[in-house]
Amino acid sequence: MLLKGKKILITGVANDWSMAWGIAKRAHEEGAEIAMPYAMPALEKRVRPLAESIGAKFVQECNVQNDEQLDSLFANIEREWGHLDGMLHAIAFSDKNELMGRYADTTRENFKNTLDISAYSLVDLTRRASKLMDQGGSIVTLTYYGGEKAVPNYNVMGVAKSALDSSVRYLASDLGCDGIRVNAISAGPIMTLAGSGVGGFKAMLRLNSEQTPLCRNMTLDDVSGAAVYLFSDLSSAVTGEIHHVDCGYSTTGMMPNRLKDILLKGLDEQ
Ligand code: NAD
Repeated sequence: MLLKGKKILITGVANDWSMAWGIAKRAHEEGAEIAMPYAMPALEKRVRPLAESIGAKFVQECNVQNDEQLDSLFANIEREWGHLDGMLHAIAFSDKNELMGRYADTTRENFKNTLDISAYSLVDLTRRASKLMDQGGSIVTLTYYGGEKAVPNYNVMGVAKSALDSSVRYLASDLGCDGIRVNAISAGPIMTLAGSGVGGFKAMLRLNSEQTPLCRNMTLDDVSGAAVYLFSDLSSAVTGEIHHVDCGYSTTGMMPNRLKDILLKGLDEQ
């Protein structure tokens, strides 16, 4: 029970494939009480039964571009819970027509919308959540390697993840003296609604699994275990970090498994 009695706001649950759902379930198993809003009315029928299965509260609409809905969510949490110990930010959106082809073709409108929903929302949610973290707290967001290196088709979402990663460091610096830690989990690719919006995602999954040192792709259990660690007191001196939970992919150069294969079989057989 690493999170016994902790009150944690989990954003970004869309269905039972969502990384946020894996983390909500695991946090609940570790003793946390969960708040679980959803982004839009169409998602309520999927999110409400999941929330009920773990006794989650504050199952209300909260689009991060809607200040009234944000005000209402945080007012309700303050009135009923009084404070927060943790928050998961697991939110990203972009026009999927621009998550394929050239980054150079990104439109101004989609650039602004993608950065607003996928990066600025962490700043806004952190400002609101930190006001309720009077006993310190832990804020965790989900990012991807495409913010550090150019990954085909990830395009403007990669730029948003760079902004998100940088925001983690600035927010950690702002809030550290209040005992509030801010970290990101840089997760390997996994099939979700958001993931499937990236062009060629199935091919990415295949190539990724062939090239990680652990010779497999990351799972929901892998990411939820890391999140429990970051929400718990086990990580009490960890802040401003981009913690890679990607089976080691980001630590490698020159496709190591493929290279081993070529060296074993010889160049002529390739
Ligand atoms: P998902 O589709 O289940 O989750 C994305 C969530 O963002 C959804 O719940 C959606 O409702 C929410 N969202 C979108 N626009 C919103 C808005 N305006 N207001 C509030 N919420 C909004 O997919 P996921 O893969 O679990 O994504 C969660 C996070 O993990 C995202 O930040 C994503 O970039 C990141 N991530 C995903 C992968 C992957 O391969 N799937 C890898 C690394 C990081």
